[in-house]
Amino acid sequence: MAAVQNVGIVGAGAAGLTAAILLADAGVRVEILEKADEPQRVGSGITLQGNALRVFKQLGVWEQIEAKGYAFGTLGLRAPDPAGTVIAVLEDIRTGGEDLPATLGMYRPDLTAILRERALQAGAVITYGKTVTGITDDGGSVTVSTADGASASYDLLIGADGLHSAIRKAIGIDVEPVGTGMGIWRAFVERPEEVVRTDLTYGGPCFIAGYTPTGPDTIYAFLVEKAQERRHEDGPRIMAELAAAYGGPWNEIRENLDHTANINYTRFTSHIVDGPWNRGRTVIIGDAAHSCPPTVAQGAAMAVEDAAVLAELLINADHVTETLWKEFSDRRLDRARTVVQSSVQLGQWMLDGVRDADVPGLMNSLSTMLKQPA
Ligand SMILES: Cc1cc2nc3c(=O)[nH]c(=O)nc-3n(C[C@H](O)[C@H](O)[C@H](O)COP(=O)(O)OP(=O)(O)OC[C@H]3O[C@@H](n4cnc5c(N)ncnc54)[C@H](O)[C@@H]3O)c2cc1C
Repeated sequence: MAAVQNVGIVGAGAAGLTAAILLADAGVRVEILEKADEPQRVGSGITLQGNALRVFKQLGVWEQIEAKGYAFGTLGLRAPDPAGTVIAVLEDIRTGGEDLPATLGMYRPDLTAILRERALQAGAVITYGKTVTGITDDGGSVTVSTADGASASYDLLIGADGLHSAIRKAIGIDVEPVGTGMGIWRAFVERPEEVVRTDLTYGGPCFIAGYTPTGPDTIYAFLVEKAQERRHEDGPRIMAELAAAYGGPWNEIRENLDHTANINYTRFTSHIVDGPWNRGRTVIIGDAAHSCPPTVAQGAAMAVEDAAVLAELLINADHVTETLWKEFSDRRLDRARTVVQSSVQLGQWMLDGVRDADVPGLMNSLSTMLKQPA
C-alpha cells in the first residue's frame, strides 16, 4: 500500500498534473486546487526535450502529445544576416531514449489539456478557482485554507504552485526567484513552410532570435534581449523592429506579427531551494522549488521529473519517513541544480559577451546527465 491515501496538490500545471496522474493511477485519492478559474486556454509554445517525453510516455499520453506536437531531431544555427544563412545543423541528443524523438514543440494549452484529461480519467479531482492561502501541519496531516474561506485536510500536500509559490513561503523557505538580466518576447504565429526544427541565431540586435514548430500549422518565435520595462501591447511593433535584422523564415514571421498574434514578454529568472524541498508532510516541486532561464528548455522537464520521482517514492513506501525525503533529495537536487546552473551560465556568457565559451562542452555534459533516467 502507498505511503499516503489522500493527497492535496496545489497547482494544475505540468508538475501538479503529472503527480496527480501517477498517484491516482496507484489508487491514491488526489485533489488538485488551482487558483485559475478555468484550464489554460491561451498561451505560447513550449519545447519539450526527450527526458520530458520519457515522463509523458510513462503517463500514457505520449501518442496524444506526438499527434498534437511537432517532433524533430536537429538544431539549426543561422547567421544574423539578411539571408538568415544556415551555418550549421546539429544532431540533437535523444535524452529520452532511442524510441523517442530528441525534441518536440507544442502549444502549451494543448499540453495542459492532455494532462488534465488524463488526470481526470485517472480519478483525480481538479477544483478551479481555489487559491490556497495557508497551511497547518499537525504531524499526521496537512490542512489547507483557501481564499473562499474553505479548508481541507490531506495526508500529504504537494506545492506545485509555480514560481511565486505560496506553499514555499508557507513552509518557511525564503528563497525567491531572481532576474537573470534577460527578457524574452514570444509570439505564437503561423508556421512558415521552411520551419521544420528549432533554428537559433546568436547576435544581431538580440542575444538570441529563434523559433520552434509547435504543430503542422504553428510555431512560436522568440527574441531574447536585455531585461527591461516592456508592455505586452507593444509586442507586435517591438518584435517587428527587433526581428528586422533577421532573414530566412523571419521575413514571413514578421508579416504575421500583427495585433492578432498572441505575443507576450517575460523576464528570465533563476532560483533553487538548495536543501530538502519538504517541511514535514508538505513538499514543493517544479517551479516552486527551482526555476531557470529557458536557454536549455528544461524547466517543464525538471517539473515533470520531480513529480514522477516523488510519486514513485510515495507509491513504493509504506510510510512517509525521513528516508523517503532523503531519497527524494538525492535523486532530484543535484540534477535540478545542474540544469539551473547550466541555463544561467549560457545566458551569462551572452550577457558578458564571452566569445570562446565552451557551449558544446556544456550542452554535451548536460545531455549526458539528462539521458540517465531521473
Ligand atoms: C519564457 C519561458 C519559456 C519557457 N520555455 C520552456 C521550454 O521551452 N521548455 C521547458 O521545459 N520549460 C520552459 N519553461 C519553463 C516552464 O514553463 C516551467 O518550468 C513549467 O511550466 C513549470 O511547471 P509547474 O507545474 O511547476 O508550474 P506552473 O506551470 O507555473 O503551474 C503552477 C500552477 O499553480 C497555480 N497556483 C499558483 N499559486 C496558487 C495558489 N496559491 N493556489 C492554487 N493554485 C495556485 C497556478 O495558477 C498554476 O496553474 C519556460 C519558462 C519561461 C518563463
